Amino acid sequence: MTRLAIARSVADLRAAIAGMRALGKRIAFVPTMGALHAGHLSLVARGRAAADAVVASIFVNPKQFGPAEDFDRYPRNEAADVALLEGAGCDLLFAPGIDDIYPAGFATEVRVGPLGEPFEGAIRPGHFTGVATVVARLLLLVSADVALFGEKDWQQLVIIRRMVADLAIPTAIEGCPIVREADGLAMSSRNAYLSAAERTVAAALPRALEIAADAIEMGADVQAALAAGRARLLASGFEAIDYFALADPDTLAELSVLDRPARLLAAARLGTTRLLDNREVRLRGSRP
Ligand code: AMP
Repeated sequence: MTRLAIARSVADLRAAIAGMRALGKRIAFVPTMGALHAGHLSLVARGRAAADAVVASIFVNPKQFGPAEDFDRYPRNEAADVALLEGAGCDLLFAPGIDDIYPAGFATEVRVGPLGEPFEGAIRPGHFTGVATVVARLLLLVSADVALFGEKDWQQLVIIRRMVADLAIPTAIEGCPIVREADGLAMSSRNAYLSAAERTVAAALPRALEIAADAIEMGADVQAALAAGRARLLASGFEAIDYFALADPDTLAELSVLDRPARLLAAARLGTTRLLDNREVRLRGSRP
């Protein structure tokens, strides 16, 4: 098992990256907020396949949390994360302090435009500006050849692709499939908030997406399939649905007919926890 090096400052990070570059290594980067699980580790594994060295970061970014959100209680467990990264073959962890990411006087924000407005952007004002700002800074600091992001956060992935193209950040962005629990629930650091009873209910979210996706692929009316999916979630014990919608996978425009390969996007609330999930919807007859 490789020993995981830890850089806690920008200077340490730059020195470690320069060392890798001096050895001619291709670098993969996996940005995270910690509380790592198998979903994060799948990104590290993909990074190992795509490059010679993998750099992960752990930074709970205050700019992407709203004032009433869970920044203070977001799970933090660096010792466990270090052990998981080491086991996954990660080479370097960047675990900066707040001043390394937002030094005194920091004032620039990256605004992502229309892609940041619907879905998560409508529910969490300012969230994607916070995400884009920190991801831009991290991508520029690490200057990796490739960076890995999960399809779990589909809108975030689309926005980061747009930002990297628009700002000519020279890192390739690769999306990785959603890693799920045995009952289908998408792995998430926030699943730790769920009570045992809520955890049982939570599996209704991937199930509702699967049923709606199958129905739409088989030619069901899109609005009717979405309404049935929402009803199913509420009947299962979800308290509120922020959105349950069919969208263009790249523009995020909402679709009322399946006229192209699409993405079903959902966010719903269980107690104090918001759960996100999404699923591909293929054009009829395009299943392999
Ligand atoms: P987070 O720590 O939640 O900010 O997530 C860091 C990265 O891991 C993001 O690119 C997420 O999309 C990705 N990720 C989180 N959960 C999963 C999952 N269940 N499967 C695949 N990727 C994930």
